[in-house]
Amino acid sequence: MGFTIAIDGPAAAGKGTISRRICAEFGFAHLDTGLLYRAVGAKMLTGAAPIEAAQTLTAEDLDGDLRNAEVARAASKVASIPEVRQALLDFQRAFATRAGGAVLDGRDIGTVICPDAQVKLFVTASAEVRAARRLLELVNGGADTDYETVLADVKERDHRDASRSDAPMKPAEDAILLDTSDLSIDEAFAKSVAVIRERQQGLPV
Ligand code: C5P
Repeated sequence: MGFTIAIDGPAAAGKGTISRRICAEFGFAHLDTGLLYRAVGAKMLTGAAPIEAAQTLTAEDLDGDLRNAEVARAASKVASIPEVRQALLDFQRAFATRAGGAVLDGRDIGTVICPDAQVKLFVTASAEVRAARRLLELVNGGADTDYETVLADVKERDHRDASRSDAPMKPAEDAILLDTSDLSIDEAFAKSVAVIRERQQGLPV
């Protein structure tokens, strides 16, 4: 059986960076599940029906410019449609059980997609800290935006993701919380590695 790590939390909390570093450290495969919803959101923006887009999603749909604010907002809207979530379920679960281990990051991995994951982390940070980080990423990527706009986007998306009725964003009961408002990414990564090693050795954490 594979070793599955579920990493959930809101946008720009550091999930992606921590996931990639864990994969580099342990040789696990990484699935950024937000990209699936972004791809469906991007298709909706070009006029496609979201449910059909999710049911017919292909690897090529994951290429392209999915990392902008407009696509993020569309992703969070299609993510509240139960049939869209259902259509993406099997692929995520199959990925999670692959031999060699897998890290999935998203919003509902520890609660819905992989409730039996060996390690569950919930990575969070204040909306202000996350908005400042996201602003830097967007500006470095050439976007023309400002802190207030990004903060409003972050809060709107948090609210929609946490309040939807199907698979809302929330920590699993057995998730370990990592608040990166006061932990550096290096510290959060080090803590994650310690938890994973303890689990691998079958020790209680
Ligand atoms: O993580 P990322 O910001 O790329 O996710 C984009 C959107 O996709 C989120 O705001 C959320 O609405 C949705 N999502 C989700 N469940 C996941 C991953 C992402 O609902 N497992």
